[in-house]
Amino acid sequence: MSEPPFPSLLPGAAIGIVGGGQLGRMTAQAAARMGYRVHIFTPEADSPAAQVTPDVTIAAYDDLDAIAAFARTVDVATFEFENVPAATAIALAEHVPLRPGVNCLEVAQDRIREKTFLNANGGPTVAFEAVDSAADLARALETIGRPAVLKTARLGYDGKGQVRIEPDTDVGEAYAAMGAARGILEAFVDFDSEISVILARQDAERVVAFEPVENRHRHHILDTTIAPAPIPADLARQAVAIAEAIAEGLDLIGLLAVELFVTADGKLLVNEIAPRPHNSGHWSIDACVTSQFEQFVRAICGLPLGNPSRHSNAVMRNLIGDDIDEIAALMADPDIKIHLYGKAEARPGRKMGHATKLYPLEAKGPPPKMPFFGM
Ligand code: AMP
Repeated sequence: MSEPPFPSLLPGAAIGIVGGGQLGRMTAQAAARMGYRVHIFTPEADSPAAQVTPDVTIAAYDDLDAIAAFARTVDVATFEFENVPAATAIALAEHVPLRPGVNCLEVAQDRIREKTFLNANGGPTVAFEAVDSAADLARALETIGRPAVLKTARLGYDGKGQVRIEPDTDVGEAYAAMGAARGILEAFVDFDSEISVILARQDAERVVAFEPVENRHRHHILDTTIAPAPIPADLARQAVAIAEAIAEGLDLIGLLAVELFVTADGKLLVNEIAPRPHNSGHWSIDACVTSQFEQFVRAICGLPLGNPSRHSNAVMRNLIGDDIDEIAALMADPDIKIHLYGKAEARPGRKMGHATKLYPLEAKGPPPKMPFFGM
């Protein structure tokens, strides 16, 4: 193997994380366990990540003086969500190594740029058209056909800013319902299942992927992850190869999550990517030799990447809103591990925590049931 692409930052060094949510919290927990200091930058008081480290800057993302001061206190910087404003990321990268780099944010922030990039870098996607007006939408529907899905190009997540266009949907109403912003019209995918691959990469020789998992959504929010995905081994290999090609195209240093559709005719189409830890990787904390969060820390600090193998099978359920009231029932199952994010208020749709049920590698048949969820 050639020399590592950059000098290792050994434990004792400080990692700066932009964003104070649960992904930052679980990254900070993994980093602390390995002996790193973590400094969180977030506009929010008492955020999930800020509860687990003493080093916190509370300031707006566009406060570039605060960003510069934050950067001076850390040895490497990263982010736990991809909608970090471009100017913030650029300012950060001027002062400290930013891993992954600004290019990864730019690709992941805009669905049109993302799908264009994916198609040019070994990541097949559904047919799509950019849409800037209701008239554009009418034209794009001629090409794409119905049913279709109209999404905002930027700042959409968990199904927000998404409109399904059926044969009888009015074009003007659909455009308004999406938010009358720059949008992307996608062909509707008739999928059998949705899967994701998470990998860590430092350079072309240092790439390690977790096995693909199956993801089931409820109201557009991730509800359940099944590890491993019950798909043929050949399809799993193809999914990993696609994720590797995308990471190579991004020249990624860090973690990448790639969400894919398995179509009814057995093909893979990439839905979206995220250059950060991902909700569909939470099972790895309890079921793998190295979790996605530890792997993320290793990747950005230039440590050898860890072993991603699974020592148990797992089902992960998100605890959303009032689901959190059921934790006593979940805790009664000794094979369930509970992770809560320290959020005070359980609003509908809010990710409060997750529960992972472990079961033996050699188990056959569907995943075991979990109390309360009845699955
Ligand atoms: P997204 O915000 O793009 O991740 O979409 C959220 C969820 O909506 C996906 O996980 C799918 O379940 C569904 N979805 C998104 N795009 C499409 C599409 N083009 N065809 C069918 N379902 C879709």
